[in-house]
Amino acid sequence: MRLKIRLLKNVISLIRRSKSCTEPVRTCCVCRTKAFKKTLHRFVLENDSPVQDIRQRKTGRGAYCCQKESCLAVFLSQQKRWKKALKVKNVFVALKS
Ligand SMILES: [Zn+2]
Repeated sequence: MRLKIRLLKNVISLIRRSKSCTEPVRTCCVCRTKAFKKTLHRFVLENDSPVQDIRQRKTGRGAYCCQKESCLAVFLSQQKRWKKALKVKNVFVALKS
């Protein structure tokens, strides 16, 4: 009986752990590949201009871009990407890092 309870507790803790370990997945707005959120660059709008959110803790809608240099270059140079990803009409691209 005790063994059963212990087993049950183990199973429950395993389920809890696996749930908390599910990493959020985001899509790169340039090449549309999906990747774990923490492996992507996150950008948010601050006073109408996008800033890189290095710690990924800023509030608001984020735009994600993968680590590929080509993607990042396209992402940073094309304003329409920002507008689409952040769902805003006007973005003044002046990137502060
Ligand atoms: Zn990409």
